[in-house]
Amino acid sequence: MSQIQAPITQDVLTIPRKLPEGARNLVGLTRPLLREALIEIGTPEKQAKMRVNQLWQWIYHWGVRDFAQMTNLAKDFRARLAENFTIELPEIVSKNVSADGTRKYLVKIAGGHEVEVVYIPETDRGTLCVSSQVGCTLTCSFCHTGTQKLVRNLTPGEIVGQIMLVRDDLGEWPEPGTGTGENGPRLLSNIVLMGMGEPLYNFEGVRDAMKIAMDGEGIALSRRRITLSTSGVVPEIARAAEEIGCLLAVSFHATTDEVRDKLVPINKRWNIETLLDALREYPRLSNSERITFEYVMLKGVNDSDEDARRLVRLIKGIPAKINLIPFNEWPGSPYERSDWSRIEAFADIVHKAGYASPIRTPRGEDIMAACGQLKSATERARKSRAEIAKEAGV
Ligand code: SAH
Ligand code: SF4
Repeated sequence: MSQIQAPITQDVLTIPRKLPEGARNLVGLTRPLLREALIEIGTPEKQAKMRVNQLWQWIYHWGVRDFAQMTNLAKDFRARLAENFTIELPEIVSKNVSADGTRKYLVKIAGGHEVEVVYIPETDRGTLCVSSQVGCTLTCSFCHTGTQKLVRNLTPGEIVGQIMLVRDDLGEWPEPGTGTGENGPRLLSNIVLMGMGEPLYNFEGVRDAMKIAMDGEGIALSRRRITLSTSGVVPEIARAAEEIGCLLAVSFHATTDEVRDKLVPINKRWNIETLLDALREYPRLSNSERITFEYVMLKGVNDSDEDARRLVRLIKGIPAKINLIPFNEWPGSPYERSDWSRIEAFADIVHKAGYASPIRTPRGEDIMAACGQLKSATERARKSRAEIAKEAGV
């Protein structure tokens, strides 16, 4: 199937999700679901709210995984919890640390599938790039994830679990009895939903996970420190503002439908004009909560002065910031990164028109951790075996 004919809407989930047997995992349950679960094991309704608060703080504020350590709960209640529930995170299969400090984790989820999570330390913040799906059904021609065949939505627990396991690795849970850990800069201070997958095709999963991450009694990240990146799933854009309330980034990447159809095939379903109309209506849009336009710089494809001027004309009236992303090459990628002088000339035109136009510093390239390079190792191995078979004429 060529890129152009590839499906541009959400495909059926191709991986059956094997639910863990026995005890139910509490990680990823929203407050109302946690309440229900506690009532199901016999917690009196009158106590349920208090018990939810207590458990919530143990799990999401203190990072505790063992019911026995939840010392403000009665012993028999702790035992009942342990009989019925677990507190489990996805498992880290491998961790790579780049020369620039970027950490890439390969994480195994139920059913044995793998996703990647990337932590990017900076002087004033630490950003976690979180995955929302295994693979992606959209087949953007410059993106490595888009070439992965397997796809399934991650559960809320698998999404919030990525944040928790990186906090484990960074040693960032507060120590019970020695303060709350709320003072000083956080190592993990920002979340970008820019890993594997299209977050708006896993709306409920992403929403519930972000609700948990934003909850003030737990991980407590402000909604303004969370950015959701979409390729342009127009019908879900306003809903993201209403139900999640985070910042929005849009993978724009081209200034004509002809080029965007090729780069971001979902454009054939919702074209540039339709997308821009939805962005103009984005609730909460203001100068302090601008939309980020992501623009990957591809040599000779979308990087001319004319493109820059057209971009500025198109987004007129939208409070925006333009993030220019030097293309990250991956083995076999069909494009090249624009020359640095070309990227600077493009940035200059956008900047002179009154928009911030930062050029994103490529991070973690040596460990294939950069934007658009994420793809599970098993899938890579499978691909290369298939390639070997093809070469051998099998
Ligand atoms: N599916 C969502 C979020 C994940 S991709 C989306 O497309 O927005 C995160 C960002 O990385 C997107 O802007 C995407 O277009 C960009 N990207 C993908 N492949 C890339 C590559 N090879 N080099 C640079 N950026 C890339
Ligand atoms: Fe999917 Fe985003 Fe990659 Fe496109 S750029 S294939 S939407 S992950």
